[in-house]
Amino acid sequence: MKTAVFPGTFDPPTLGHMEIIERAAVLFDRLYVAVVAENAKHPHPLSLQERLKFLKAMVSPLNNVEVVSFSGLVVDFAEKQNAGFLVRGLRNGFDFEYESQMASANREMTGVETVLLIASPQYSHISSTLIREIAANGRRLEGFVPKIVEEAIFQSLKPNLPPKS
Ligand code: ADP
Repeated sequence: MKTAVFPGTFDPPTLGHMEIIERAAVLFDRLYVAVVAENAKHPHPLSLQERLKFLKAMVSPLNNVEVVSFSGLVVDFAEKQNAGFLVRGLRNGFDFEYESQMASANREMTGVETVLLIASPQYSHISSTLIREIAANGRRLEGFVPKIVEEAIFQSLKPNLPPKS
């Protein structure tokens, strides 16, 4: 049985993440979408509980996909799940630089292989950072994130949104 882990911050989960999940679910018998528990990178609009809840709703039609949280090294989590593969998405050359370094380091540590899936052109401009920026300025997120995520982001940002003119 081929098991893979798709790790990420998913803050927030986007349609770009969803495309990678759907494609990876076809390639592997079992796929763990593993959400980084702590998020020191930036103040995030979505809590871990919210990120898990939305991802679970998003993957509910896919019966070989499970959403879990993890902390520490992804290679340790993958080993615990007996997963021989990591999945990551590639949008551009910057992603490639970062992902190729991570993939080599991870393989060096435990032998885990990283499968890099190239984003479809219609999703390659979507990043969680961009979405947080758009949402913080009160613009709609249609076409970037699933509807349930859009509503939750606006609820959580409401007190900070610039007043409407
Ligand atoms: P991390 O902080 O681990 O990079 P992210 O949630 O930002 O977490 O990204 C998780 C994975 O999803 C990364 O491999 C990233 O390249 C990929 N990814 C993010 N957005 C997209 C997208 N629009 N299309 C394809 N892959 C994406």
